[in-house]
Order: sequence, then structure tokens, then C-alpha cells
Amino acid sequence: MASLKKSIVALLILCASTACGGEDIVAPLDVPSAPRSLTVSTVTQTTVEVTWAATTNTTVTRYEYQINDAFWSTIPGSDNTTTSHTFDSLIANTQYTLSIRAVNSAGEGASDCVAATTLPPDFFGQVLIPVDTKPRTSAVPVGSVSVTIVSGPRAGERVETDQNGQYVFLEVEEDRLHIRLEKEKHETKEAIVHRTKATTLTDTLPLEYEGPQDTPGTVLIGLAWPEYSKQVMDTLSVVADLLLISSEDRESYGWGVATVKDPEEPHPTKTGLTHEICHAHQHGVVRPRGGGTTSGKPWDSDWISSPEAEAYLEAREADREEIGYNRLATFPDDPWNDSLLSIIEENANVCARWWGVGYRRYDIEYQRAWLKEHLPNRAEWAEEWLYRP
Ligand SMILES: [Zn+2]
Repeated sequence: MASLKKSIVALLILCASTACGGEDIVAPLDVPSAPRSLTVSTVTQTTVEVTWAATTNTTVTRYEYQINDAFWSTIPGSDNTTTSHTFDSLIANTQYTLSIRAVNSAGEGASDCVAATTLPPDFFGQVLIPVDTKPRTSAVPVGSVSVTIVSGPRAGERVETDQNGQYVFLEVEEDRLHIRLEKEKHETKEAIVHRTKATTLTDTLPLEYEGPQDTPGTVLIGLAWPEYSKQVMDTLSVVADLLLISSEDRESYGWGVATVKDPEEPHPTKTGLTHEICHAHQHGVVRPRGGGTTSGKPWDSDWISSPEAEAYLEAREADREEIGYNRLATFPDDPWNDSLLSIIEENANVCARWWGVGYRRYDIEYQRAWLKEHLPNRAEWAEEWLYRP
């Protein structure tokens, strides 16, 4: 009995959702018959136009339409010559059952219906370049960037950003777009853009910030990395979507953005950029998520309590006891200054030296030998810790 009931229910649901024109059988003879040749003619994101064959029944006074199983409405201005209706205010990418029936003085005739699915919505996005190293809350739009879908059923399709950096892909069926951004003087980047999730560059551990890139479709781009810095970045564990931007005044690092005055200038900018990448490594070690902080703290104060920093502080203490002076001190008047700033800066200096970048000289062998001579315990630390885990 239970199984019989179940199959009846299933049958009823099937009829309700798919049966069209079933009322023919019970339609009284004196009301109009169902519209003939009901067809979907034009579909947009919000409208569906349906057409039908002209009736020869001159008693028809108007036509009515119905969306799914909702109430019937009169097609405004309709009469016996009417042969089309546009259903509007529909939702994009949604299937509808659309019904039409004729009415005369005897009453409503039998209906016919068609199924139609509205077109998918457009995909909107914006391409931005960050303007400082704060939590990326400020960024400027980049116009005339070509955005290309590189995989999926619409691979190869390409649009350009307007002056506000915005781009639109019309009627995107897939929820995910794998897009590539290209611009002269800017590094080519690939990014997954998702409708409902923040835009992040492809990485197993994307960082999350409360910045513009947390808006769906927004992608941040930066300058091209100079060749010499790529080796360092490949070896160090740096933040996931580290961006390089040019800066008017000085080199700096913060929240996944490194700034340099001129990334192609060999010295001393090279020193500065490697130093900033070393800060990105400190940041990468603690990998804070959400607003750029963990438990409300900035990344540098998190780093100081990491195993890497604890080992560094031990090595620093050992150098203090054995060597007694601190050649890479940030405060020359107080070379063993134990403030957070002093320690993260000094550590970035050690890291930059380890990667071959020291004052007016780029030479890995020379700089590593220099470190071993002047900071032997911290040189050992660098050998152990300054690599990808
Ligand atoms: Zn620094």
C-alpha cells in the first residue's frame, strides 16, 4: 500500500511539471480550443517570447497567460488576431512553464504550454592594481586590459576592461571562469574568478584580505617581477599572491604587496626588492587569513612567535655571546635592539644577504661567506630556514 501511494505521488508530480495541453479533453465545446503551434521564439535573460498560430475562431475576445502554476492574467490589448506574447520580468538562467489560452464569452478555453529557460546572467568583474601596501583597501582600476577565458566551453572568448577597469562577459553559462589577464608592462596572470567567492590567484593557500579582491570578479595585477627576484621567490615560502608595484618614494612591503622605485635598476634597488621579498617570506611563514591578520594581530607580530623566528632569536643570542657585535643591525646606535621592528628588519637583512644581495654587491657566494664570518649562528639559521617547507 505504501509503495502504491508513493508511485501515485510520483506520477502526479511528473504531470504537474511536464504535462502541457492536458486540459483539451475536458474543455467544453463552446469555449475556444487550445492555441495551436505554441512555440518559443525569442529568449533573453529576463524575457521569453512565445508565438502561436492565428485562430479562425472569431468569438475569441482576448488571450491569457500563465507562468508556471501561478494565476492567469490577461494579455493587454489582445483579441482574436493576437499571435504572440512576451513574458517579462523573469529571472536569468531559470526554467519556466509558460501557458497561453484563449477566452470568449462562454469562458476560458483549453491552454497549451511550452517550457523555456532564460539565458544565463552576465559576468561582471574589475581589474585593479593596488596603490599601497596597506590591506589592499585602495586600488586603482586598470583600463584596456584584455581578459580572456582560457578554459571551459567558452575558452578563447576575450573582452577588454573599460576605463573603470570593468569587464563583462555576456551570458556566462559556467559558474567558474578561468581567465587570463594581459597588459603591456604587466605580468600575465591567470586567475579563477568565481561568482560567489572572493577572487584569489591560483594557489593552494590563497591569502584572504578585506580588500577589493574580495568582491567576485575582481582581480588585482602588479608589475612584472624582475628575473633575479624570481629565483628568490621560487625558493622562499612567500605569500600566495605577492604583487609588485612601483613606488614614488621608497621600497616597502606589507600585506602581500612589495613596492620598489624601479624594479629593473640593478643597485641598490635590487637590494631593496630582495629585502622586501624576505618580508614577504616572514609573512608567508605565518600565512594569516581573513583581513590580513590572525587573531587581530598584524603578520609581523605573528611571525615573531613562529618556530622560525624563535630559532632566529636563539641564533641572534648566540651571535651576541660569541661575536659581540651586530653588523646587520637596524639601529647602529643600539645594535642589539630587541624591538619587533628591529628584529624583523634585521632578519630581512640576513635573508637578503643569504640570497646574494648585500650592500652594492650581488654575489651569493660572497654574501654567504660574509654572513658565515660575521653572523655564524644566523648564517646557520638561514641555511636551515630560508627555503620552502
Ligand atoms: Zn624592511
